[in-house]
Amino acid sequence: MNDPAAFDEDTLRARLSAEQYAVCRCAATEAPFSGRWYHHHADGTYVCVACGGTLFDSRDKYDSGSGWPSFRQPAAAAAVSERPDDRHGMRRTEVRCARCDSHLGHVFADGPPPVGLRYCINSLALDFRPRAGAAAD
Ligand code: FE
Repeated sequence: MNDPAAFDEDTLRARLSAEQYAVCRCAATEAPFSGRWYHHHADGTYVCVACGGTLFDSRDKYDSGSGWPSFRQPAAAAAVSERPDDRHGMRRTEVRCARCDSHLGHVFADGPPPVGLRYCINSLALDFRPRAGAAAD
């Protein structure tokens, strides 16, 4: 997956559903409370639905009440890229997959202590990998 051609738009459009493509490549936002990972509490890692790169760990997931999967931090700082987003008349910070540049969601400064961040991520941008040896629940 280090081949840049693996992330070209035609390949991604073929790989993703229309809903996934709209979020990942056109920065759409899924309806709150609609996503499959919002009330998901299994032990494992959340990966980019477009490229498979590891993005978030279930140990950092918490219930924000927002309607979108919420994490205290990325699995690794280098897993995501962040940039200002002034769309829709708001000053927000967009979060993207550092590997394939897919849109994931936004990060807000109203998360739980000690870090105080809320990575608010679309379920449609994520896939889930159970941790090896983890009990299924
Ligand atoms: Fe990716």
